[in-house]
Parts: sequence; structure tokens; C-alpha cells
Amino acid sequence: MKLKGVIFDMDGTVVDVTYDWNQIRADLNTQGVPILMYLNSLEEPEKSEKWRVLEKYEREATEKARLKPGMRGFLGLLNQKGIKKALVTNNSQRNVFFLLEKFNLEFDCVITRESGLWKPSGAPFRAVLENLGLKKEECCVVGDSHFDIKAAEEAGIPHVFILNEDKERFASMPAEVFSSAEALQKRIKNLLEKDNW
Ligand SMILES: [Mg+2]
Repeated sequence: MKLKGVIFDMDGTVVDVTYDWNQIRADLNTQGVPILMYLNSLEEPEKSEKWRVLEKYEREATEKARLKPGMRGFLGLLNQKGIKKALVTNNSQRNVFFLLEKFNLEFDCVITRESGLWKPSGAPFRAVLENLGLKKEECCVVGDSHFDIKAAEEAGIPHVFILNEDKERFASMPAEVFSSAEALQKRIKNLLEKDNW
């Protein structure tokens, strides 16, 4: 089995963004429920009002987003090797298109929250596998959070790589953690040279 596809998360993975999720959760009063699920469970007019609050935070963060250092080189390596690239995010289509255009990036498959398939469910990853015609063992997930790990587990994708400087946070999780895109690129480059990874 060879590596044929990489499924990327967007915020914190492909781009560096600053979200104060604790502040956002407090503002929305999500009471421990994942944000999108919480918002969708509300009645109008509260629902629309709170969606607008989230969208404002997202718009501001997106406008300030930077491409993660080393990411262009990593994506370039995958292109060169003919590896498929997918982008799966709980962010909106509007913000995804803004960033793809701003940084001139292309993915073979893009799944945004408008699909109704949200991490930490494995559903959006399963949709990618179907869309690209790949098996779960032929793909890996590259993310930056527990949501990415949970979604990969649920979808049965065995290889998960996390970009995060705080390795401790992922100590007991089924994922390899890298502090930079360059370090991850090195690892993937090695894996691509193996017939059975
Ligand atoms: Mg993320």
C-alpha cells in the first residue's frame, strides 16, 4: 500500500490563524457543545444572531491569516509526486475560497461546512475517499487539533500527522506530531520512498 492522498485541515494547518476559541465559546454560550452543532440546535432568531457572531470572528481571522511557513514547499512536493490533495474544514466556503485565491492554492477536493459534514465526525473524510477513489489506508490526515484526530479515527484513516508546537497536548493520541511543515515534509518524503508505508 502506498500513500496516494493527503487530507488537509485548513485553519492552523495550511494557514496560521488566530482564533480565541475560549472567547468565542463564551460569547456564544455553547455550554460544552461543539460550536456548529450548538448553533444548529438553536431556535430563531437566536440562531441567526449567533451565526452572525461566529461569522464575524471567522471573517476577521481569515483576513489576517498567513500561509503556514513551509506549506507551499510541502504542497509542491505532493504535486511533484502526483499525490492527491484534499481540504476539509469546518469553516465556510466563502472563507476557503478567499484563502485559496489569496495564496494561489489548489486542491483536488474541497469540503466546507456547507456540506453538512463536520469534524469531529469522520463523514467529511469518508466523502473525500469516495470523491478521490482512494482507500483509507492510502491516505493520511494532516491537521492541528483533536478534531482532526477524532475524525480520522472515526473514518478509519490510520495515519494522522499533527502540526502543532505543543507536543504534550497530543502525547496519548494516535498521531505523529511535528512542530513545522518542513519537519513533516521530511517525514512524508521518506514515506513516499517506501513501497509499503
Ligand atoms: Mg485546525
